[in-house]
Amino acid sequence: MHELSIAQSLIELACEAAARDRCERVTRLFVRVGALSGVVKEALEFSFELAAEDTPCAGATLEIESVGLTVHCPKCDATKTVGGDYLFCCPTCGSPTPEILSGRELELVSVEVDEYAPANR
Ligand SMILES: [Zn+2]
Repeated sequence: MHELSIAQSLIELACEAAARDRCERVTRLFVRVGALSGVVKEALEFSFELAAEDTPCAGATLEIESVGLTVHCPKCDATKTVGGDYLFCCPTCGSPTPEILSGRELELVSVEVDEYAPANR
């Protein structure tokens, strides 16, 4: 399952961040997910909960920010926001728009740790 491996890598990154801050518990993860990343929000939330068990991320909240798909149209010379049925062309003039400006994101933006749960290390 695609989302499960993503959830696992997010958890890994968050745990590293917690370790850097010498904290044992991650309380919140902020993630940006682009429309083109192919990630289903609900599936990611579900996978996250499963994968977080027995890690410092257990019980943490996953905040997912959905990023819309925007492309640059060379003919209109403008940034266009396109919908779910993007066919790699401009919604206004129909020109091919190979340049994708946003929508591919899949990144961990920030991690919130519980500073009152310091690691005993
Ligand atoms: Zn156009």
